Amino acid sequence: MDDRNDYALAARRVLTQRLESLHRAGVQQLGKISVAVAPMEAVQMADRQIPAADAPPPVPNSPSPRPLALSLSLTDPYPSELPEAKSDRQQRLEELNNQVRACTLCRDLACSRKQTVFGVGSAKARVVFFGEAPGADEDRQGEPFVGRAGQLLTKIIEACGWKRSDVYIMNVLKCRPPENRNPSPNEVENCRPFFERQFEILRPEYIVCVGAVPAQALLETAEAVGKLRGRWHRFRDCKVLVTYHPSYLLRNPSAKKYVWDDMQILLKDMGLPIPGKK
Ligand code: URA
Repeated sequence: MDDRNDYALAARRVLTQRLESLHRAGVQQLGKISVAVAPMEAVQMADRQIPAADAPPPVPNSPSPRPLALSLSLTDPYPSELPEAKSDRQQRLEELNNQVRACTLCRDLACSRKQTVFGVGSAKARVVFFGEAPGADEDRQGEPFVGRAGQLLTKIIEACGWKRSDVYIMNVLKCRPPENRNPSPNEVENCRPFFERQFEILRPEYIVCVGAVPAQALLETAEAVGKLRGRWHRFRDCKVLVTYHPSYLLRNPSAKKYVWDDMQILLKDMGLPIPGKK
């Protein structure tokens, strides 16, 4: 094998190692260049087959010499929307959650909370259930909707054919108001940048506001749930539905039928079957 071949092999090995380490670090795209790397063994195998410079030319119509172990390809046109890695959304949610944990804007709530309650579920969920504020159970466990009202919300989610982990669940306030009083307008405004940023990261197709507090905060209206429910609203790119809060349903079980009507509106719009309906 002559010097030119040795040099080409050495260069190929160095480049492959560089690309492999970029790959291991999660890099799949360098500007307009998409990087595909075969494992080192494949490169070594292929290296053994590299013909010497003075080898005879390949026979016409014989199978192509060998696949390139290392391939750099120009992606043109550049895809307008590269698939977003799930971990990227989770990472940004985690960063936002750290800011929420450090927040002391509402002095009373920051003093009385056991912990902040950020949100739970799939960062890629099509639907976000948006509630009011953590109660005592949520404050203790650090997860929204885990108390009695939460168990009813879980039943509503399951009645739609999902698990809790298929959707995302979050509240307007990230801290528990003492004695479970309603959030004050000032507290809602202090939390607004957090929940708006949370929606920006999640980019759900649908938001279901459960109760007046999330509906009025998101839609910036003073209308009651009875007036808002049963029809579509919008928040930026998301379709918004308003329905009764599960705590209200615990006090008024006869209102459950309205919530089921609302969930059917949601499922139909999502193109999903309505469980139990032929
Ligand atoms: N009610 C809410 O609105 N949110 C919770 O997390 C629990 C109860």
